[in-house]
Amino acid sequence: MKIAVVGTGYVGLVTGVCLSEIGHEVTCIDIDSQKVEMMRAGQSPIYEPGLDELMLKNIQNGRLTFTVDHEQGYRNAKAIYIAVGTPPNADGTANLQYIDEVSINIAKHLRKYVVVVTKSTVPVGTNDRIRRMILEYRENEVPFDVVSNPEFLREGNAVHDAFHGDRIVIGADNDRAAAILEEINRPFGIPIFKTDLYSAEMIKYASNAFLATKISFINEISSLCEKLNANVEDVAKGMGMDKRIGSQFLKAGIGYGGSCFPKDTKALIQIAGNVEHEFNLLKSVIDVNNKQQKLLVQKAKDRFGSLKGLNIAVLGLAFKPDTDDMREAASIVVTDQLIEAGAQVIAYDPIAIDNARKCLRKEVQYAASIEEAAHNADALFILTEWFDIKNMDLLEIRKRIKQPIIFDGRNCFDLQRMGELDYEYYSIGRSPIMGRKKQYV
Ligand code: NAD
Repeated sequence: MKIAVVGTGYVGLVTGVCLSEIGHEVTCIDIDSQKVEMMRAGQSPIYEPGLDELMLKNIQNGRLTFTVDHEQGYRNAKAIYIAVGTPPNADGTANLQYIDEVSINIAKHLRKYVVVVTKSTVPVGTNDRIRRMILEYRENEVPFDVVSNPEFLREGNAVHDAFHGDRIVIGADNDRAAAILEEINRPFGIPIFKTDLYSAEMIKYASNAFLATKISFINEISSLCEKLNANVEDVAKGMGMDKRIGSQFLKAGIGYGGSCFPKDTKALIQIAGNVEHEFNLLKSVIDVNNKQQKLLVQKAKDRFGSLKGLNIAVLGLAFKPDTDDMREAASIVVTDQLIEAGAQVIAYDPIAIDNARKCLRKEVQYAASIEEAAHNADALFILTEWFDIKNMDLLEIRKRIKQPIIFDGRNCFDLQRMGELDYEYYSIGRSPIMGRKKQYV
C-alpha cells in the first residue's frame, strides 16, 4: 500500500522504514531539508541499532523515499501517518502546534479518500481536533477518516519492537478505517487491539504513566533499602518473580528520563485537571523522580563534604543505553548540580556527545574514552549503563584514577566483586562498599 509518514524523528523514521520492510511503498516527509538529504543518502540522522541497514535496503529496492515536499509525499497515499513531535509546554500540557500544522497541510492537499493515522502521542480528544481542522481547511468535499495508532517503541530497541511489539492499538470510529489499518499492519504478525479513538489515545498515556509509576515505586523502595540495610536488586528480583508484578521496570536507579515519560506524565496530569480530576498518584511519581535524579550528587557531597575543585568523570550521558537521545536525561540535572557545587566535569558517552554538547552546560568537558575521562579523577559517576561502561576494566581504570571512588546511578556492578576490588563504591538501594583497603577517607 502507498503510505506517507510526516515527521522523521525517532518514531516517524522507524515507522516509515519498518512499513517499507513489510512491503509497503513509503514516502517519509520532513521539513528539515538537511535530515532529508542525509536520509536520501541512506544515513539515519538518529542512532538506532539496526536502522541504517534496513533503511538502505529499502531505499535500494525502491520502497522507501524521502522528501520535503508534502504534496509530493501525499500523492496517491492511502494512509498518511502523523509522527511529528508533541513537546511539553511550560505548564506540562502537550504542545499541539506541529499536529495542527500537519492537519491543515493534509486538508489543503486532500484529493481522494485517505486515512489519517495519528502516531504521535496526543491528549484524549486530539484526533477529534485533527478531524475538525481537516474539515475546516479542506478545499473540496473529499472524504477521509482519522485513526489513532499510538506508538510503543523503546528507543534503542525500536526496530526490534516494530517487529516484536506486544500489541498494535488501533482506535477508530468506523470499520472501514480500522480495516485499512489492520491490512497495513497484518504482516508484522503482532496482536492487534481495536478500540475507539478516545480509549486508544488514553492507552498510550496510561501505559507510560504506569511504567513511570513502577520506576518511581522501586526507587522509593530503594531509599528504604538503604536505610534498612536491604538490597534493592534482590528485593526487585523477589518481587518480579511474582507474575502479577512482573520483573520489568523494577530497576532502581537515578530515575527515568527521555522524551516520553517526563512529558507524558505531566501531560496526563493536565488532561486529568481539564476534567477536574486531581491525579495525586502521578504527581508523587514525578516528585520521586525529581528527587531521585539528585540522589547521586547528594551521596558525593555526604562523602566528600565539598565537591569544590574535584575532578568528576561522568560516564554515560544519553537518557538510556543504545540511543543518542539526550531529552530530559538525568545527566543534565547531575552535571548541572556538580558544576554548581564547584566540581570540574569531564564526560564520556559512546554515542550522545554531539547531542550532549547542545544541552549540557558549557563548562562540561568531553573525553573520547572511559580511560581518558577517568584520568586523574577524584570520582567516577555512572549515569547510563552502556555495555562498555558496565564492562569497563576496573583494574585498568584504577591505575588512572586519583581516588578510586565510584557513584553508580545504574547499579552496574556486583557488590561482592566490588568488595574484592580496591574501590569505594556507592550505588542505589544497596549498602556502600568500602573496597579491600578502606583507606580513602
Ligand atoms: P522528534 O522530535 O524526534 O521528530 C519529530 C520530527 O517531525 C522532526 O524531524 C521534525 O523536523 C518533524 N516535523 C515537525 N513538523 C513537521 C511538519 N510540519 N512536516 C514534516 N515534518 C515535521 O519526535 P519523536 O521522538 O519521533 O516523537 C514523535 C511523537 O511520537 C511524539 O508525540 C512522541 O511523544 C511520540 N512517541 C515518541 C517515542 C520515542 O521514544 N521517541 C515513543 C512513542 C511515542
